This record gives sequence, structure tokens and C-alpha cells, in this order.
Amino acid sequence: MDFDYLIKGKELFMFVDFDSELSKEFLSSAKSNINNLNKEIIDFSRKIGFDGKIIKVVVQGVVIMTITFSAESSNVDIDDTKTLNNISSADDTKKVTPISFIDIDINKYYLSNDSGKFGMYMNPSYIMIHNTANSASSYNEIKYLHSLQNRSTTSFHFAVDDEEIWQALPTSINGWHAGDGKDVFSYNRNSIGVEIAKSTAHNDLMKDNAIENAAKLTAYLMIENDNPIENVIAHNDASGKYCPHDIYDRYGWDNFIERVVSYL
Ligand SMILES: [Zn+2]
Repeated sequence: MDFDYLIKGKELFMFVDFDSELSKEFLSSAKSNINNLNKEIIDFSRKIGFDGKIIKVVVQGVVIMTITFSAESSNVDIDDTKTLNNISSADDTKKVTPISFIDIDINKYYLSNDSGKFGMYMNPSYIMIHNTANSASSYNEIKYLHSLQNRSTTSFHFAVDDEEIWQALPTSINGWHAGDGKDVFSYNRNSIGVEIAKSTAHNDLMKDNAIENAAKLTAYLMIENDNPIENVIAHNDASGKYCPHDIYDRYGWDNFIERVVSYL
């Protein structure tokens, strides 16, 4: 069978199609399936002439298995410590990951990779801040991304409000929120999109708390992805759109950056 793949330096990323028969079997588990998949993956890497040392198997944007070739022989060491239970599936879309150093959880409700909103593999360099320019909650924003009536390909990673954070895409997969196209160097393909929700609500305290939660999340993402503060940017930097409007109107961009820095 064929895999989608990407070679980055000495690493080969193999993307297992979530919808294929193989991945269905694979996700339903059984160690023998994993062993069969290992063999297929190693055979494939030889077929394409991969001469690096590390293969990472990616399902739904999550690295589920790392295969390391040993230097002397054709033997391989397989680290499959990530359990299959970590993978999002249609029956199990809601998960919560606590952010250890701040007092808020990340709720996960991932888009499927056939949703038309799911991008390609990325190693995020930027964190891009938006306002939703409406009064809906972060959860309703994510629900809307999932709704069948929503045929737009627009997508983002996180929606944040005064009470909750919801995540719709893994940070290793790009979304379509920057408005600067699909080029490999576009912000779309290299940034994590954070939507600050309820930005037109008639309650300044609510909006302030949403901004504060977004600053915490941004600090967390910077640490997770090893991004410098210079790479925390506004939607405006990518497309010229007046976004995030609430931050611009009430505090200014530098104030948001100061809030992020206060959590580092
Ligand atoms: Zn925006």
C-alpha cells in the first residue's frame, strides 16, 4: 500500500490515512496489526530510498510510533509507548489535557481529516492571535467548525473564552485561518491559530478574562513548541485584516504581548 510521507532531514514522517481499511484495523488495535504495519512501513521506506535513521508514524496529526534504525545492522528499535487510546476517533472526540503550569484545561474536539478543514503536517513556528468578531462561546465556535452546514474550509486550532479553551486541530497539523494562501511558507502552513471568542460581547470583564486566558494559552504553546515571543503575531500581520479587533481597540497589541510574557 502507499503512504503519504514527508522527509525532514534524517526523519521520515509517514501518514496513515485515518479512513483506510488498514488504519481502521490498526486503530481497533491488536499487536499483530502493529507488527504488520511496521513491516509495511520499513519496506516502504526502503522503496523510496530513505537513508535516514528515524521514522515517525502519524495518525490524525499525532505521532503514535517512532521507529529507529540501529547503526550497525538492519535491526530496528520500536518505541510505541504512545497508546492508540491517544488517537481521536469519531466515537471519542472529547478529551481534556490539563495545562500543568496554568489553571485551565484544554478541551479537545478534533476535526476529522476528511472535513476539508484539516491541513498538512507542520512544525509550528508562529502563534497567530484572532478575535472571532462575534459573541459566541469557545465551545460554540468549535461546534460550528464541526457542523455540516459550515462548508467553509476555514479552521483554527484553539478557541478561547473567559471560561474554557477548546482545541479543534492538533498543533502538528495546519489550519486555514491566516488568509495568506496555501504556500509552504505561508502563515497558514506555519502557525497555530488562536481565536479569542466572545469579542463583541457587551461585558468587558468577560472579554478581559478571555484575553487573559488566551495569553496563558499562548505562553503554554510557546513553551511547548519552542517559539520566541517575536513569533507571537496578529492575524493583521499576515493579511492586513483588522484582527484581533478587541485587543487593538481596548488595549493595543503590545499590552497582549506583555500579558503573555508575564506567564513565561
Ligand atoms: Zn483573524
